[in-house]
Amino acid sequence: MLPLIFSTIACLFHNPAIVLKPDHLFDGTATLQSGWIVVVDGNRIVAVGPASTVTTPPGARTIHLPGCTLLPGLIDAHTHLMLQPYDMATWDDQVSRQPMAERVCRATVHARANLMSGFTTLRDMGTEGAQFSDVGLKSAILKRVISGPRLLVTTRAIVASGSYAPRSFAPEWRIPQGAEEADGEHLREVVRRQIRAGADWIKVYADTPHGPGETPRPAFILQELELVVATARDAGVLVAAHAQSKEGMRRATMAGVATIEHGDSGDLALFRLMAEKKIGYCPTMSMSEAYARYAGWKTGTPPPADIISKRASFRAALDSGVTIVNGSDMGVFAHGDGVRELELLVAHGMTPLQALHAATGAAAKALRVDHLVGRIQLGLEADLIAVEGNPCQEIGALRKVRCVMKNGELFKAP
Ligand SMILES: [Zn+2]
Repeated sequence: MLPLIFSTIACLFHNPAIVLKPDHLFDGTATLQSGWIVVVDGNRIVAVGPASTVTTPPGARTIHLPGCTLLPGLIDAHTHLMLQPYDMATWDDQVSRQPMAERVCRATVHARANLMSGFTTLRDMGTEGAQFSDVGLKSAILKRVISGPRLLVTTRAIVASGSYAPRSFAPEWRIPQGAEEADGEHLREVVRRQIRAGADWIKVYADTPHGPGETPRPAFILQELELVVATARDAGVLVAAHAQSKEGMRRATMAGVATIEHGDSGDLALFRLMAEKKIGYCPTMSMSEAYARYAGWKTGTPPPADIISKRASFRAALDSGVTIVNGSDMGVFAHGDGVRELELLVAHGMTPLQALHAATGAAAKALRVDHLVGRIQLGLEADLIAVEGNPCQEIGALRKVRCVMKNGELFKAP
């Protein structure tokens, strides 16, 4: 009798299964289905397939999504939750004049905006001076104190001494930097300390604009980057490298990082080398365009040289076969506007289906979370969104989010 009573009580407190009935379904790989449904029980996908073949559990709640496409929650592999757009406050002002508590408060708003716009997983690529606050932000989301995407965090990020910012102070002044400085053997300790603090990934700046002029130049020698990768690897942690110059990209590639960010000077040979070594590429097209706009570029006027070369480099990446991972550098521009990167990927050569794959199945694989999310597949955790229309034909449909579910929990429903 007692077990029966307990199971009855358990049933009363167990949320009913949810059946999602969209018109179309993109599963996160390459296929679009029509007339398929998905059943979610608890935090998992327990059934997916044509409506006629799937048995819906008794007592399930059905969510009808007419005119909508269901897809895996979107992934952005390069964000900065601790940053706000630079036309609201310059990077220098944010890093050196905003109290960290203010930045964290803003980050909670950013996290929610991203989740509600359909992004259920973010790899946050450095707190830019806000220390280890991303670890606490992630913890607050996991404990459901605030609403936000799943986070993979990198904490402070690592730069070579003297190579980062804020800069241009009197040489006698030692100014706190927007990332953690380390060189040579000391890199080993810094990597270990960041991992101990909660870094899911290590981010290293393979190059920065240091030295005379404003051109990005290599910041670490190859052996230093190799030391970062080897130290992180022993802890089961992968490394992402910021690299804009050819030499920075080449060294990061040779050192064995898992993803390269920006890659503005990348050419066909470099991207082919990355493809050969199975390194993912986050183009951050929207960051480049945001910088150009902040520098005065207006819609309808010819793009500046930086944008022309960025687009050519992206074309080379597409031709090379390197895995392109959706990563926008959101924070430089407004949180909640992550679709902008997918729109640019499509505007400059990807098909909508390829771009969607870059933000779902391919991103999950590159970030090593494909056993959890990134596809609509039996057994995976239920991170699902529904948008009005068909983003496989018109990527802008991603802006009309009607339903957001993360880990089986509904955050938005029609
Ligand atoms: Zn960034």
